[in-house]
Amino acid sequence: MDCLFCKIVSGEVPSYKIYEDDAVYAFLDIYPTSEGHTIVLPKKHSMRFTEMSEAEVSSLFASVSKVARAVEEALDVPGSNIGLNNGEVAGQSVPHVHVHIIPRRVNDKGGS
Ligand code: IMP
Repeated sequence: MDCLFCKIVSGEVPSYKIYEDDAVYAFLDIYPTSEGHTIVLPKKHSMRFTEMSEAEVSSLFASVSKVARAVEEALDVPGSNIGLNNGEVAGQSVPHVHVHIIPRRVNDKGGS
């Protein structure tokens, strides 16, 4: 399958890895919205979040929580935006489910 994020998981495309286990892979976004912008994705390819089973969603978000805590602690930031774009019309540019963790800093002007 010609999927950029599958190629990142397999190592065919290089990435700056943050975390990996049997089910998920996390790496730094190449065009970060803020320093430490991290992408967490399930290794099993699904195009859209809404195609995933409840068990897959639970597993993914348990890992997202763990990675977000680690990112916030490592960067010493007080919070982060955590979210995903579901479908091209919603801004999903890579058709492999992924969650953004965008570290936020006080007065960083990154949003409301
Ligand atoms: P989306 O727009 O929600 O689909 O998010 C895709 C994200 O993947 C964007 O924030 C891109 O900057 C990021 N991205 C695209 N290609 C690469 C890459 O090769 N390495 C790391 N991040 C990437």
